[in-house]
Amino acid sequence: MKKGILPLIVGNWKMNPLSITIATSLAKNIKTAVGKIDDVDIVIAPPTVYIASVHAILKHSKTIALGVQTIHHEKLGAFTGEISIPMVHEFSVRYIILGHSERRALGEDDVTINEKLTATLKAGMTAILCIGEKKRDEGGLYLSGIEKQIRAGLVGVSRTKLSHVVIAYEPVWAIGSGMTPTAEDIHEMRLFIEKILSDMYERNYAQKVRVLYGGSVDEKNARELFVGGTVDGFLVGGASLHVKTFRDIIMSVRPTH
Ligand code: PEP
Repeated sequence: MKKGILPLIVGNWKMNPLSITIATSLAKNIKTAVGKIDDVDIVIAPPTVYIASVHAILKHSKTIALGVQTIHHEKLGAFTGEISIPMVHEFSVRYIILGHSERRALGEDDVTINEKLTATLKAGMTAILCIGEKKRDEGGLYLSGIEKQIRAGLVGVSRTKLSHVVIAYEPVWAIGSGMTPTAEDIHEMRLFIEKILSDMYERNYAQKVRVLYGGSVDEKNARELFVGGTVDGFLVGGASLHVKTFRDIIMSVRPTH
């Protein structure tokens, strides 16, 4: 954890739940469960079709912010099926998850991710750039892939924008699999990410970027991965759909824990 920066927990609901009724009750229950916590930044990212309803529930919440799981970089036009930043901005969306491996698997490439990230920062919102290897090799070749994802994702981003950039290290093999790297592996990756950022920017600017871990985080492993992994928080998928588990993960990163 970096000094002076609050931990950040992001719940990525992915393509869940099945109905708006369940989505609104999930949002209400999370809101009640987290109460007035003010020492952790909490974000939930529902499917975009639920954003208006979830916004209506959270609009007076100082505790939970809204995010989306992807976005189109253009403001409007002939982009069938897409949703733009001004469209979600109306619902107080402040965070945009970009480059999730499930979107990269659908063909989203580094150039597109960079366009989206640039548009996100231009709109004054926070970009959560997801990076991660598909598998690890003993020779450490996967590290060059991680470096490429970071450098390509941040092309053209000036150092003054870095406080609006979050990097989520999500090894693809850990997402939804029940497997995680060790806390020490995550710590090493955190140092590696910081080194790349420090090579790209001055160190004091590079340190403004929050580094999250994501991949099979639950209430049992959260504390160990947070402390041992020295990360600034988590991007949580499946476990963010379970109110008590999500709350316990949030509690595990509180500075007063
Ligand atoms: C994710 O989708 O970003 C994620 C980390 O999923 P899970 O927590 O389910 O592994």
